[in-house]
Amino acid sequence: MGLEKDIFCNNFEVWKKDKKILFENQHVYSILSITPTVPALTLVIPKKHIENFSELTGNIAEEFFHAIPKTFEIIQEIYESCDKLRDLYEFYTQLSKTGPFDLAKLQAKEMLIHPELKVKPVAYNVGINYGTFAGQTVNHLHWQLIPRRENKDRPFGIATAFKEYLN
Ligand SMILES: [Zn+2]
Repeated sequence: MGLEKDIFCNNFEVWKKDKKILFENQHVYSILSITPTVPALTLVIPKKHIENFSELTGNIAEEFFHAIPKTFEIIQEIYESCDKLRDLYEFYTQLSKTGPFDLAKLQAKEMLIHPELKVKPVAYNVGINYGTFAGQTVNHLHWQLIPRRENKDRPFGIATAFKEYLN
């Protein structure tokens, strides 16, 4: 436990150097998901390798929850700046070409033609895939911050966060 090296543990310094970190405090950081299902899908990740909720305590837990609204503010700021929105487009363009695995490239391509790519999020859902059968693929606890756009015709709620995009 705790010794496994995963994509989050291995890449934090690289992402930091490449200016991919959206938000960072002492114990937690945020990055754009490399397997996005909606534009600007973001992950909030503890810097320490944490696998279980029981390890999420004290300052780390506090900063974890603090990081969520802060990260959402930063996502909204992306949509308030032409340059930052261009960077987001560029992020998905690069990911679609040089993503580390096929799913990342495919999802990035879908983001580039997504009808809400340039629509500013006004709300968000937060969720965790906890356990293999919940779809957890990285054994390092992380929050998914799912930006939501204004649309009165669609169902709301985390259980339906992706439903409108599925056929
Ligand atoms: Zn880890």
